[in-house]
Amino acid sequence: MPRGFAWRAAIVAAACGLAIVTSRAWAEGKPQSEYPVATDARIEQSGESVRLTMTLSSIVEVDAWVQASPDRVIVEMPSTNFQIQPSARKAAGFVSGYRYGLFTADKARIIIDLAQPATIARTEMKTVRGGFGELTIELRKAARAEFLAEAGKAKKPQEAAALPVMPAVPSKPAGESRRTIVIDPGHGGIDPGTLVASIAEKSVVLAFGKALKEQLEASGRYRIVMTRDDDRFVALSERVQVGRAEQADLFISIHADSLVQAQDVRGATVYTRSERATDADAARLAAKENEADSAAGLETSEEVQDVAGILMDLARRETRTFSGVFARNLVDKLGGSIKMHKIPLRSARFWVLSAPDVPSVLIELGYMSSPKDAELLNSPEWRGKAVTAVSGAIDNYFARERASVGRAAENRN
Ligand SMILES: [Zn+2]
Repeated sequence: MPRGFAWRAAIVAAACGLAIVTSRAWAEGKPQSEYPVATDARIEQSGESVRLTMTLSSIVEVDAWVQASPDRVIVEMPSTNFQIQPSARKAAGFVSGYRYGLFTADKARIIIDLAQPATIARTEMKTVRGGFGELTIELRKAARAEFLAEAGKAKKPQEAAALPVMPAVPSKPAGESRRTIVIDPGHGGIDPGTLVASIAEKSVVLAFGKALKEQLEASGRYRIVMTRDDDRFVALSERVQVGRAEQADLFISIHADSLVQAQDVRGATVYTRSERATDADAARLAAKENEADSAAGLETSEEVQDVAGILMDLARRETRTFSGVFARNLVDKLGGSIKMHKIPLRSARFWVLSAPDVPSVLIELGYMSSPKDAELLNSPEWRGKAVTAVSGAIDNYFARERASVGRAAENRN
């Protein structure tokens, strides 16, 4: 049994029984080629109203509601292929911006950010010339109290009902002898992550994750599971649960940071989880990354609840040690081939690293706010070097682990 600890199976079985997650990475929706296509969007203000109009290849069912803190309008519709010009105007009147993307395997969302309270005056989907669908969302400026009353008409029960439950049986195939590595490209779909110029963190980290998967699989030594391999949203709790259900030997979350006020800050950083952050900057980053669920309009996001008990304490302690060992390997290897941050190994309270029984690290590949880093993050040559370093660190980690287990066995003899 990998890592050779009998308590793992018991913990995984217990954990899977209580876990409730949102859209599952393994839940298959329609192929993307069958999605309706959104081709055009316009936003305009007239008097006290702001209207968002979107043209779609067909009529779809839409649902819209307002949500407070942050104040916004959420429009939910079936999975849609958004082919809207990135240059399309995004703000008008009290609407400070809007974004769109996949939310679950079968749903997409448009999230409209409000600079001032507003309510939904009209949600309409009608057929226009050529059989296209035209979606109109009309918002009207409202008093704070009126807005809050609307937002209070809870959407939560419906949202909860839509949450699929984790399968009770771990997903890892029986008899699998290769190490399982979960690669977790951050953000996705409706949550773009950091945006600098027209580059989204979600795209940078997905490209990296896919390249890493390819290289690790080519070695034949590893079984790779991705929390997402396309542009879709995956909730933080779900990412953690994928690692647990797959009984992963390692969980690697991939991100890219930004510090707009300090564009000279550069380099990659490896993070592990700790209750207390090593520094203020690490705490700021963890808080930002922990907001990913909120970016998609999930009202509540909670950390994965641990199963209490002595087995879990044992697991947590050991997991922390393994995470630290792997993180140091990563810093060594990465440091040999790419630019690192001046403090390359740090920790903070990242929710995505909260699995008590899966060694987990988070890599911030660099700062998208640094022009130099941004250029590298998009360069296939840089990516190739960094991917090779990460896979080298993985090989090292498992080789050392095996060696130490071997030494422990010798000592017993
Ligand atoms: Zn991120």
